[in-house]
Amino acid sequence: MWCLSGPEDKRYRKDGEVSMSGVSVDVREERPISEFSYTNLILAAKEKALNGEKLDRESIIALLEIDSDSINADMLGIAAREVAEVVTGNMASVWASIGVDYKNCAMNCDFCSFGKKWGLIEQESERSTEEIIGLIDRFVSQGARWVTLRTTQFYGFDRLIRLIKEIRLAVPGNYEIVVNTGEFDDEKARRLANAGAQVVYHTLRLREGKDTRFRPEDRIDTLRSVRESPLNLAYLVEPVGMEHSNEEIADIFLKGMEYGAILSGAMARVPLPGTPFSGSGQLSERRHAQIVAVTRLAAGHHAPDICVHPPSRVAMEWGANVVVVETGAVPRDTGNCECEWNGFDMATARDYFKNAGYAFYSGDENECEK
Ligand code: SF4
Repeated sequence: MWCLSGPEDKRYRKDGEVSMSGVSVDVREERPISEFSYTNLILAAKEKALNGEKLDRESIIALLEIDSDSINADMLGIAAREVAEVVTGNMASVWASIGVDYKNCAMNCDFCSFGKKWGLIEQESERSTEEIIGLIDRFVSQGARWVTLRTTQFYGFDRLIRLIKEIRLAVPGNYEIVVNTGEFDDEKARRLANAGAQVVYHTLRLREGKDTRFRPEDRIDTLRSVRESPLNLAYLVEPVGMEHSNEEIADIFLKGMEYGAILSGAMARVPLPGTPFSGSGQLSERRHAQIVAVTRLAAGHHAPDICVHPPSRVAMEWGANVVVVETGAVPRDTGNCECEWNGFDMATARDYFKNAGYAFYSGDENECEK
């Protein structure tokens, strides 16, 4: 494995401008960044990440502009993996996710199989509390660090609170309960925390308001309520498709950092038949891994856990340390999954971690497997 070292105190911009000590000098015009400049850009980003500094928007965009099939992308990935080793203590974890309700959702997000308009759900169903507790018990005993209750936008909030309390009573352990649900305010955020949840998964999605029927302000209000509460925020850049620009990706990522995300990363869109994205292309594994690597460098110590979804070996070698094992109602599938989605189970996750040189971490210091 290569090792990147020797960062220089320079910042290279996409237009060829070099910034040193706050003074900008225009050395090239309308020319692509040279190999040498990319090396320095990557090394400077790595240095900043390790020093606890956030990466600025321009640098994030410049890193995203690297050709994902180039040797520079490999260099970027290696730098991101080196940062991951430091900020995670070289530990990787599983985010287990349970789709609670397999139901038509009137919000009709263009990328989601639950959209009522797409007519993909033939028979609505819902997991019982007993089933959910059984699944969580199994995931926790297998070492899941987080267990996520994923519900559609209109799952009853009081029911969710009751479910969290029942899970806490029934399943002991150091795992964290994550909630992925609809919009809520400050008071509801406090109720979630009091019931026993630690984390909320919530994002401003790419092209929110265009590919979704949400007002971006409403999504941001919920992010604000999470920030003002004892709850932690998990926030991926999602759902990434081939049409999204580097600027859009950077802005969505930075929004998560603005609201204090402690877990970031990137989720690639799965173009589902029957949805408006049917037949559209899907990100290549290397491009997905590149975006993940950039989030690793840009988040540094601020969001020490970086997730890739769907799982990718390349992304794990390029700095991701979290993968998702999910079951039940999955918005990236046209059916209700009885087993783990795409066969990606806890054993496979552990194999990915081992392959990428991580130790497995369940959240319990005494159970970290080297
Ligand atoms: S992403 Fe959420 S809000 Fe949008 S259609 Fe799917 S379940 Fe409903």
